[in-house]
Amino acid sequence: MFPPAPLELLHLDWLTSAGIEVAILRLDQIDPLISGNKWFKLVEHLKAAERAGAEGIISLGGAHSNHLHALAAAGKRLGLKTVGLLRGHAQDTPTVRDLQACGMHLHWLGYGGYRARHEPGFWTPWQAQYPDLHAVPEGGGGLTGALGCAAIKQQVDTQLADLGWGNFDAWWLACGTGTTLAGLALAENGRRLVYGALAVPDDHGVAPNIQAILEQAAGPAADYRLIDASRGGFAKVDPPLLAFIEHTEQVSGVPLEPVYTGKALLALKQHVESGELARGARLVFVHTGGLQGRRGFDAD
Ligand SMILES: *Cc1c(COP(=O)(O)O)cnc(C)c1O
Repeated sequence: MFPPAPLELLHLDWLTSAGIEVAILRLDQIDPLISGNKWFKLVEHLKAAERAGAEGIISLGGAHSNHLHALAAAGKRLGLKTVGLLRGHAQDTPTVRDLQACGMHLHWLGYGGYRARHEPGFWTPWQAQYPDLHAVPEGGGGLTGALGCAAIKQQVDTQLADLGWGNFDAWWLACGTGTTLAGLALAENGRRLVYGALAVPDDHGVAPNIQAILEQAAGPAADYRLIDASRGGFAKVDPPLLAFIEHTEQVSGVPLEPVYTGKALLALKQHVESGELARGARLVFVHTGGLQGRRGFDAD
């Protein structure tokens, strides 16, 4: 289903001086329209919709949502109807314009209406209005979302030899809900450690969400570690972060955004500089995409 994402060595002075090698898996480059981990998280949901004979998918998100963006693009690509339930009041963001251009039908729920999304009965009127659509939870999460992320591991395994690597020690990636991390940890079955750089504060329930997915999958061992990378709040930016992103983009040529990938890479730098990784360690950093969402920041 996916063209392989390029796996490239990352050349940065702080890695060289610590004697650590990092390869970056460019999920931002898998598809011109559908970028990043959200595509992987959608795969099994799309299959479930197909099995259910649904005509399309209905899901939720905000006005900069990478998930809705991937869903709208996938719908366009695969000829599926898509409906998005949006947080807040009608807004005109680059993301919203893309959703509409892909043919997604939008409903704005307000803030209170959006907060009610976890309440029992929330879906009833939407299911009545759209009986032929399959509902996908916010962000494409849950075990269904995690299982699609196993393909991320395959993409790396098949390209390791091209880097001249026999093996590597650990993964490093940004976490929002932890679904992608849970999928990788399941695919690894305890073989390699998966580091999750938290883009959200500690109290956002990432650890319990990961635990719930692993328990639902019932079985495999999982080796993962969560690191706080949130810098005071989800989507909060500060001058050192922005300077780090700008500098890294210049020297590496890899585009980053401040919500997930920029924070995750800066947290890796801090971890490397703390001396916790042994010289000679090899890591794969997953570029989870999200670049479409940063247009919102450029504009704000
Ligand atoms: C959604 C997102 C994440 C977080 O993925 P989870 O599976 O929710 O942890 C990380 N990076 C980017 C760019 C994202 O859009």
